[in-house]
Amino acid sequence: MRCRVPSRRLCTVFVALLCAALAGCATNPITGRNQFMLVSEEYAIGGSAAAYRSMIGQLGNRGKLESGTARVKQIHDITDRLIAQAVRFRSDTANWNWQIEVIDEPKMINAFCMAGGKMGIFTGFWDKLDASDDELAAVMGHEIAHALVSHPRERMSVAIGVGLGVTVLAGVTARDSNDFDRNLQIGATAAALAVTLPNSREAESEADQIGIELAARAGYDPNAAVTLWQKMAKEDRGAPMEFLSTHPAVDTRIERLRALVPQVEPLYVAAKARGPSAAPNFLAVPEATNERVVSRAGEESREDYARRVAKTAEALTFVAGEVERFRRGEVVFTCTFACSITYRSNKGEWPTYRQAGAWRELAVSVMRAETLSDLSYFMLGEAAQGLGFEDAARVYYQRALEAARDGHACGGLLSSCEGIDVTKLASAALGDKR
Ligand SMILES: [Zn+2]
Repeated sequence: MRCRVPSRRLCTVFVALLCAALAGCATNPITGRNQFMLVSEEYAIGGSAAAYRSMIGQLGNRGKLESGTARVKQIHDITDRLIAQAVRFRSDTANWNWQIEVIDEPKMINAFCMAGGKMGIFTGFWDKLDASDDELAAVMGHEIAHALVSHPRERMSVAIGVGLGVTVLAGVTARDSNDFDRNLQIGATAAALAVTLPNSREAESEADQIGIELAARAGYDPNAAVTLWQKMAKEDRGAPMEFLSTHPAVDTRIERLRALVPQVEPLYVAAKARGPSAAPNFLAVPEATNERVVSRAGEESREDYARRVAKTAEALTFVAGEVERFRRGEVVFTCTFACSITYRSNKGEWPTYRQAGAWRELAVSVMRAETLSDLSYFMLGEAAQGLGFEDAARVYYQRALEAARDGHACGGLLSSCEGIDVTKLASAALGDKR
């Protein structure tokens, strides 16, 4: 959502108010941005799977799906490596039924990733752009990034809210089994429509930043994001392409990507030096090859892999500065009023993150709420402890007790403690550390 309110803080408050009024917003744990969400994640994934099945089925009937070719294998290898990095930042995506199809339309330059990881790429990327491995990683990294931070779900919400009318909402939330098919159909329609809707400038910028980092971490040259968009801009001058109608502002984008390259280059260099990772396969194997999904010797399960990599204190580069301060015990909150809406909407998810050991998500969510309270500091302490930053954890537990002493304790009529006895637990945690 774009805002024309003068200050960033006011803008955040404005969006939060609007979200509260519409009862359909969520703070993204990766970006911290408030997103307009009318539909649940499960609904978005179900609708997308139905839309994908129907689209792929039709393309298959028309002989438009490529199978068993070298470029099918190429895009599978590239995409699998990108997904292995994506799950690092959202471990639940390890259980998505990731799938990619190569669509034989040599004149079409387009690619997409729906909610739940259903992907497609058109052969124009090879036939018209002669894209390299690194450039294919740039485009798929960008599309996977959209799905990772729930942009398809956000666009489905817009499609349902605006395009199909608010009366549909009753259907969306219906539990009656008679309504199930209709529900699924609405979801599929919204998912198909979402693929054709342009993303907001903010969403594009998020996908560019996260995408270039996923590619770099997977061992693909981030400079390819720049050359890819240059090729597309050149091609578009000849014949306007579908991809650019949903991905506008090419010139500013190229400049922005160029500025991002040095930030993620060290990740690329490190990944190259490490060589291929031992991540499990995430993609369904292409049908035509008739291969079974066979685990490599001693291969971890997807879940174990996701759990292991999610526990490391990795941060996406564009939130890295903030996470660095967290790691050093330097996060201090002063806000008590302007932040209260975000605080109230965020803190409901903290016990869930805490219970799941999703320490990175917990820390980011607490930092995004920016609110001076004993509960905020306690949760930061828990996240720091979980990630093994003992010194920082001690600082935050201490600050939790100080905040309570200074009259910033959670509890009371307007702000619950989410069932947590902060003073008792923070004291206990500090006691353990003495
Ligand atoms: Zn995009």
